[in-house]
Amino acid sequence: MPRKRHTQHTPLLSACATLAALTLTSCTSWVPAGDYEGWTLYVEDGSTVDNEAYCGAFDAAFIAVEDVFGPFVDKVDVHAISGSVDLQSGNRGTITGEEGVVEVVEGIGATVVPAFHAGGGGGLFSPSGIFVATPATGTAVHELVHARVAELGLSLPLWFEEGVAAIMGDGIEREGRWVVDGFSFWPWVELQEERPTKAELDRLLSLTSRQDHSVRENVIVHFVGWAVIFDCMRETGDLDWQRWLEESRSVEDLTSWAFARMERTLELDTMLTWLDRVEDEDPAVRLAAARGAWKVGDEDVIMLLLDQLEREEDGEVKACLAINALASLGRVDASREVERRLWPTVLRALRRVELPIEEEQVAARELYRSYRRWGGWRTRQSSFDKLDRFWRE
Ligand SMILES: [Zn+2]
Repeated sequence: MPRKRHTQHTPLLSACATLAALTLTSCTSWVPAGDYEGWTLYVEDGSTVDNEAYCGAFDAAFIAVEDVFGPFVDKVDVHAISGSVDLQSGNRGTITGEEGVVEVVEGIGATVVPAFHAGGGGGLFSPSGIFVATPATGTAVHELVHARVAELGLSLPLWFEEGVAAIMGDGIEREGRWVVDGFSFWPWVELQEERPTKAELDRLLSLTSRQDHSVRENVIVHFVGWAVIFDCMRETGDLDWQRWLEESRSVEDLTSWAFARMERTLELDTMLTWLDRVEDEDPAVRLAAARGAWKVGDEDVIMLLLDQLEREEDGEVKACLAINALASLGRVDASREVERRLWPTVLRALRRVELPIEEEQVAARELYRSYRRWGGWRTRQSSFDKLDRFWRE
């Protein structure tokens, strides 16, 4: 009999959708909160912002993006938004004062919109630049790709730009360095569940950020772009986006070319082979590979994470493996055999793990206790949230 354990073990693990080229309407007036090399941080008049956190995220992100796209010429305007974004369509939105609003996208579910890049239509109520709700490095990388592409005046196809931004924004920050992994479990799972047909792909590939399109289409363009570009990256083994762009422009039948690449990315073997990176000798690579693996909800994936967890010595990687194995239980009715191995391994890791950030260390202990104590589920969600850089993509 299938057991319903979804509500028992799993908090709401929402995914993040970063939107491109949103035309923004906002009545907010922005004031500078910090002036840094290459960028200015703005905040809504009357609000405060954690400057240090934004500096940490953007400093590492600038290095990663400039490495691939060349140095920025102009200063980038980064706006720290406190409220959520209310989307009218895939490329139109308004900043609201409400916090933590989750956008429910048809067929995809709960989605947080943590950031976007606005081209700006000009005028006082249509500001341009980057808008971010939380200072996460991956999000900063993703948005800086859009900002640099806009600065270069490249008119890239929407799917291509989103694909490259998604690849570059997938990774982990370790000791101030952004390490790209490129494999995102979220789009992989969503596309597996609902594969676009060739005809749908044809339309998605032709979408531009100026054309009006739905929120759902915008999210799917991200997914498809990611899947196609991931295959390019896997093939060339680097981030040579110009080469990928040239190839996509030179093929006779773009839809068939993209379809074949997407299909390759969606093969089970592609995912499992890539996940072997949890054994890499560089802990940053191991960390980046494991992050987000919970989303697959697959027993083989759980076993792979546990295999590495049993021999892992790095604190951050341990936490990442444990949390992703644990969160997988919300996606699969695991067999007794898997659970019997998972619980002691994961709980031991959470109880003993040493993490460099004090708040995360406390959250890991809290998470451990939440499974040992009656009523512990009350603190479970907030512990998962505090550890979100280990699982959220
Ligand atoms: Zn984007």
